[in-house]
Amino acid sequence: MSMTWEEIKTEQPTVMAILKRSIDKNRLAHAYVFEGRRGSGKKKAAFLIIQYLFCLDKDTNGPCGKCRDCKRIQHGNHPDVMLVEREGTTIKKAQVESLQKEFTYRGMEPGLKVYVVNEADKMTASAANSLLKFLEEPESPTLALLLTENIHSMLDTIVSRSQKVTFAPPSLEKRTAMYEEQGISSAASSLLARLPDQWGGEELSEKKEWIVHGRSLVIQLLEEVHHRPQQTLLTLQEKWLPHFKDREELDIGLDLLLFWYRDILAVKQGQEDLAYPDQIKKLEQGALQMSETVISQRVQWILHAKRRLRANVNAQLLMEHLLLRLQEGS
Ligand SMILES: [Zn+2]
Repeated sequence: MSMTWEEIKTEQPTVMAILKRSIDKNRLAHAYVFEGRRGSGKKKAAFLIIQYLFCLDKDTNGPCGKCRDCKRIQHGNHPDVMLVEREGTTIKKAQVESLQKEFTYRGMEPGLKVYVVNEADKMTASAANSLLKFLEEPESPTLALLLTENIHSMLDTIVSRSQKVTFAPPSLEKRTAMYEEQGISSAASSLLARLPDQWGGEELSEKKEWIVHGRSLVIQLLEEVHHRPQQTLLTLQEKWLPHFKDREELDIGLDLLLFWYRDILAVKQGQEDLAYPDQIKKLEQGALQMSETVISQRVQWILHAKRRLRANVNAQLLMEHLLLRLQEGS
């Protein structure tokens, strides 16, 4: 999965231009937070930037990729570059301390030391506090690259001492492919790719079975809304509400409903990138039966329900209200 300087420059032109210019002008900050969705290339960008920094034979197009320093960085054994990754589910204080110890020891040698903390939001509170001290008082010239998909879970004091670099999200196509590579069915992958990577601190991909079941509930419920409306309240009561149990889950459920109507609109407009690609027959049927105005109205109702959900409206009332509206005129 190695990516070249050229490739990352194509995907993240702004980020790479900013960082390269800072290196060229010798104006790098001491610490950066690279934030962006999974698959946006943060880690690859970090290591290419580090190569550019150390490369013995770089030119205006980037690092050479062939010199001793480039090779060592590629192989993860450059003496002045360290990577910290989570052990189990978190990054622990001992890991940050051993990084500090290593740097103090190597600090005898002149030159810049660089460390990368992948998934920096996974640091425990004590690890983060330990890192904060290190950010404030490094013993030798140091560059920190802290990578995260979830900047809001990071210690404010760390973020405020770093320069924030925001990566553009990867394309829908790339995200779908990423989930498929994890062995998730293509039907579920195309939904997962449209949802946030994480919610409530949990990885969405770890709830793939829950998503797959939720998906079938959406298909059933909408089938009933449009063809067997007398059935919907029962399905809501017995299946939907027990599955989408709390506000966060129901929010995902509403997203899944939303994607359905957006798909119908996409089919109507001749687009091919669908959240429910395997349901094309039903989507085409919907596209024939509904005008664009009707579809847009339904999309608006679902968005309205999402806003009411945030305002703490009772889940059952909210869903009953929404289903009634979706049934109107069908
Ligand atoms: Zn080189």
